[in-house]
Amino acid sequence: MHPFAYARPDDLGTAVAAVAGDPAATFIAGGTELVNWMKDGIARPALVVDLGGLPLSAIDETPEGGLRIGALARMRMVAEDAAVRARYPVLAEALEAGASPQIRNAATVGGNLLQRTRCPYFRETSFPCNKRELGAGCAARTGPHHLHAVFGGSDACIAVHPSDLAVALLALDATVLLRGPASDRRVPIDGFYLLPGETPERETVLRHGEAIIAVELPAARFAARSRYRKIRERASFAFALVSVAAAVDLGDDGRVREARIALGSVAPKPWRARAAEAALVGRMLDAEAAAAAGRAAVAGAAPLPDTAYKVTLVERAVARTLAEIGGWA
Ligand SMILES: Cc1cc2nc3c(=O)[nH]c(=O)nc-3n(C[C@H](O)[C@H](O)[C@H](O)COP(=O)(O)OP(=O)(O)OC[C@H]3O[C@@H](n4cnc5c(N)ncnc54)[C@H](O)[C@@H]3O)c2cc1C
Ligand code: SF4
Repeated sequence: MHPFAYARPDDLGTAVAAVAGDPAATFIAGGTELVNWMKDGIARPALVVDLGGLPLSAIDETPEGGLRIGALARMRMVAEDAAVRARYPVLAEALEAGASPQIRNAATVGGNLLQRTRCPYFRETSFPCNKRELGAGCAARTGPHHLHAVFGGSDACIAVHPSDLAVALLALDATVLLRGPASDRRVPIDGFYLLPGETPERETVLRHGEAIIAVELPAARFAARSRYRKIRERASFAFALVSVAAAVDLGDDGRVREARIALGSVAPKPWRARAAEAALVGRMLDAEAAAAAGRAAVAGAAPLPDTAYKVTLVERAVARTLAEIGGWA
């Protein structure tokens, strides 16, 4: 590990100014990602600014009837929160499906959103990887790539985003709250992540020195009837091969008024399946509608030889998640 300086400011302005003022500085929260990158040689910060002393872990009601979750709230704390479980079950389920109890005790919401791909070639520095070193090439294009993208990839990069939390937040229309050295910004999560294009090293709209301070969940009618389904190679402590976050609002007549469907581990960013949502609206939530949504979710998929299985998996996982919401699974 390279030598680095460490600071633990007790106010947010000082923390933001410290990182913004040094191109080689970075924030640390729970450290469950950053420390691994430093050990593996993926990150070599000269200054690590610890956010751990800041009061950014509360879960509060918003005036609009939603919830505001501080960026330093731990995964476990959010998953166990009574309001989250009752009003946004998809969020609690996504968090509980992630990592291990030990990691969920330490890992924060902000750090989770900024975790980087688990593409094995990215994490192992002996392979060429455009995300680590632009122009080096992409080892996944020529090597085994069954973990990779079926949507949104580019010639430069076909890695997937690994966060379960981000998929649930996308289905909930969450907003990410940022504090920069000069001003604050609110970014809808749908616009927070970037596709790789020719710049796979840029993964979010976050500017250097900006901190995530919270995420906000709206008061949405669809949120309470929501589920998360994660399909993985092991039943626990494994990243998703494919995941689905679905939320549905039903009218008194049983027809779908609004739907949200987001997919995980299928694209370089959490992937909104708008065609699947459109396939549900106005219909009774039944097996036929769920199957139609599954088919719509995979329209436009561009699998590579090793990822073709994900198309079938997504189609069935969407239908199955809707069946759970509808109560016939
Ligand atoms: C073995 C293992 C299994 C895992 N399995 C899963 C899984 O199944 N699903 C899943 O979703 N995740 C999984 N994870 C990832 C885990 O959720 C993340 O490591 C964790 O959430 C990162 O949070 P942290 O607070 O430790 O971040 P840190 O390691 O402290 O930081 C990560 C990055 O975020 C930046 N950062 C942190 N907080 C802020 C902030 N407030 N503002 C700006 N930048 C910030 C840091 O600068 C750094 O770049 C796993 C991790 C491990 C190690
Ligand atoms: S898929 Fe992306 S992260 Fe993986 S090796 Fe290729 S460029 Fe690197």
